[in-house]
Amino acid sequence: MITETIRKFVGRLFAPAPKGPLRITRDKHGIDRRNVSRHAIKVCEVLRQHGYEAYIVGGAVRDLIVGLEPKDFDVATNATPEQIRPLFRRARIIGRRFQLVHVVFGQEIIETSTFRAPASEDQETDEHGRILRDNVFGSQEEDAKRRDFTMNALYYDPHNEEVIDYHDGVADLKKRQIRIIGDPVKRYREDPVRMLRAVRFAAKLNGAIDPATRQPIQTMADLIENVPASRLFDEMLKLLTCGHAMDCLRQLRADGLHKGLLPLLDVVLEQPGGEHFVELALERTDARVRAGKTISPSFLFAALLWQQVDVRWKQLRAQGEHTIPALSSAADSVLDEQTEKLAIQRRFSSDMREIWFMQPRFERRMGKTIYRMIEQPRFRAACDFLQLRAAAGEFDSVLAQWWMDLANADDVTRADMIEEIARQPRDAGDAPSSSPARRRRRPRRSGPRSSSPSGD
Ligand code: ATP
Ligand code: MG
Repeated sequence: MITETIRKFVGRLFAPAPKGPLRITRDKHGIDRRNVSRHAIKVCEVLRQHGYEAYIVGGAVRDLIVGLEPKDFDVATNATPEQIRPLFRRARIIGRRFQLVHVVFGQEIIETSTFRAPASEDQETDEHGRILRDNVFGSQEEDAKRRDFTMNALYYDPHNEEVIDYHDGVADLKKRQIRIIGDPVKRYREDPVRMLRAVRFAAKLNGAIDPATRQPIQTMADLIENVPASRLFDEMLKLLTCGHAMDCLRQLRADGLHKGLLPLLDVVLEQPGGEHFVELALERTDARVRAGKTISPSFLFAALLWQQVDVRWKQLRAQGEHTIPALSSAADSVLDEQTEKLAIQRRFSSDMREIWFMQPRFERRMGKTIYRMIEQPRFRAACDFLQLRAAAGEFDSVLAQWWMDLANADDVTRADMIEEIARQPRDAGDAPSSSPARRRRRPRRSGPRSSSPSGD
């Protein structure tokens, strides 16, 4: 009896201590509380005052640790949506299956969700193992386990300024290493979008995907095809607007992940001219994102698909179709082909059409038409698009600049500019598309565009 007690005691002395999460203090993680959304802090404080645990979690913690400005702030708590909602003046429960709460402060929404448990064996999946529902509440530890990458499973407690880390995420983050939580094959099967996310975070953080996390991607890439189109569109948009779009696309291609995304992107990137155009578009987008400016998805997709539209447009015109109907059918066929996989929503595709359809109209400058063009809601975007074409050597850069100046001018200056055009002799200014003057102004190269344009 006594020996048994002693044995137990000694056993307990030498047993490994139960491994709790790391608790990383401010001096180690380096998050400056002043960079944390005060609304997110408020949500955590209120929940805490009511006896719940609440932490800032996910992308915001990751970005704060590496000194990037978070896009938005999410909170995770052990309170249920029904318990969260009454604590805030403007809060609504959203989602049907897995509910979470949007706490609204003016322009800012703090997405507040209850700790979730990871996928269990009896979870509903599709025939490829993709999880269809993810709706069981759990503990914080379980919540950490069902997150995708170690660096995305960090919980920042604004009260004591500690970061709670179950999977060595802070260490990975400092090494810029993207490491999936759990078995990569299982996690990608549950949700193939995680493969795209791995690529995006690697590009965004200028890091690398850990070898074990990376290894199954090539062979599992096809699973992307089972992901609903709307979800792919959202992910693709995040990818293109993460500030490192070109790196992401190159990596997606290297890993065979691009196939299900934009079916023609591969072709586009392989054409020397196409690659140049797409690269220019993405460089500009990246520069805007890094400068904290907004991005228009329609503009971006219009640019990505333009080469395809342009090629078909030219073919149709060569077959004798008129300019505008030819452009219209070219746009239709490209959009049909592309949107099958990637649900480019109707509002985007109609804006894309408007941007494209304005392009031939920039070729002629005639008073009446110019005024009508200015009134179009997409005039500004179409002018920006024209700059891109000029930079790619598709359009005369001086003329493109004239349109940009017009877009930027006030009404009086605009009237002057348009009047000035009217006074110019026809062949010094603009002429019908078949005239030599136009050809001089807007050189078209038949072979691959290798040289970059002058003037931009
Ligand atoms: P960003 O908002 O900068 O794109 P993020 O990491 O915040 O990056 P969100 O899509 O906002 O990405 O997701 C918030 C958090 O939810 C992630 O940090 C991660 O913990 C978890 N998460 C998101 N998507 C998945 C997924 N597919 N599988 C598992 N966990 C995920
Ligand atoms: Mg986020």
